[in-house]
Amino acid sequence: MKDHRRLGRELGLFGSDPLIGAGLPYWLPAGAAVRQALEDYIAEAERRAGYQRVYSPVLGKRELYELSGHWQHYSDDMYPAMELSGDEQMVLRPSLCPHHAVIYRSREHSYRELPLRMSELGGMYRSELSGVLGGLTRVRAIQLNDAHVFCTLEQVAEEARAALGLIRAAYEAMGIVPARYRLSLPGPGGKYVDKPELWERSVPLLREVLDASGVAYEDGPDEAAFYGPKIDVQVVDAAGRESTLSTVQLDFHQPEVFGLEYVGADGGRHRPVMVHRAIIGSVERAVAHLIEAHQGRFPAWLAPVQLAVLPLGDEQVDAGAKLVRRCVEAGLRAELVAPDRGTLGARIRAGRLVPYQAVVGPREAAADEVSLRVRGGEQVGPLPVAAALERLGQECSPAYP
Ligand SMILES: [Zn+2]
Repeated sequence: MKDHRRLGRELGLFGSDPLIGAGLPYWLPAGAAVRQALEDYIAEAERRAGYQRVYSPVLGKRELYELSGHWQHYSDDMYPAMELSGDEQMVLRPSLCPHHAVIYRSREHSYRELPLRMSELGGMYRSELSGVLGGLTRVRAIQLNDAHVFCTLEQVAEEARAALGLIRAAYEAMGIVPARYRLSLPGPGGKYVDKPELWERSVPLLREVLDASGVAYEDGPDEAAFYGPKIDVQVVDAAGRESTLSTVQLDFHQPEVFGLEYVGADGGRHRPVMVHRAIIGSVERAVAHLIEAHQGRFPAWLAPVQLAVLPLGDEQVDAGAKLVRRCVEAGLRAELVAPDRGTLGARIRAGRLVPYQAVVGPREAAADEVSLRVRGGEQVGPLPVAAALERLGQECSPAYP
């Protein structure tokens, strides 16, 4: 098993430079294509599940994080505040929740709007020591697939269950098998919000969700968020190290400190609960895991290049280029691999990680047809280009829950 840093170099997926800084990788075109496909999948899966997208800034005033509790409970992982003129201190955000809580309370909500599912794919920042940084798994600037569901106490279990369902469907589409599920609980010490009644309500709720889901899980003492317990979906990397990729968290704390409310059926004001959930969590860590799990042989919908077009000889280059254009217009990631890159056999071998290869010979060029080689060796066709495009379009799309 090659690790994702080596594969990232070999496949031209991402890189880093000491001048930008440790833990701040950049994405090369092939890696960016994988990331974009993943982000598109998440956006569509969330849209179908009734989430509403928002955008919020990656900075906030220090007071925002004092109110949320991050300043007191999470400061070891945060960057120092930036001093601006006139006593203002700005902080790179360590999470998206405070912004979303503020967006929620920016207007009044009726119980009829709940559950209100707010999602964002946004930046957050973690002050990691440079010694632990590496590749995409431990980074200082994180793109988080985050969402917060504001709901009533009665809706919590169903929302947590549905979030867990989204996670499991995404893992199936990505071809990832979780190492284990963990119910992350508080531990001793001052890391956690000191309100026993909140923990006594939230822990049994998540335990019930896990019990009803039928997945095997273990308790993880001292692994909770500072504001509440979590279901963590754990994966193991090529070196055998375990990390959390996805999570579902219950939070009674931030709704309280931000004074969140909704107007109930009785006309009175009530406090919603926040369910924090991340389907793939950090985009960086998810792609690192995908690279290692598939060793570069991504599922077709995630592959940087889905179809390589191989003209047999120079006479078929124009027909090949035309086929690439039609594929691109049909939404596929296609690339021309012309005869100047080697013999047909050499080009086929060089593209062995690409899900589909289309060989365009004199016969295909004349008849507007294409012969497909499926990764793994199966041969299809020749078939009309329109039929091939339809088949490729289906096979290069992910399955949504
Ligand atoms: Zn959150």
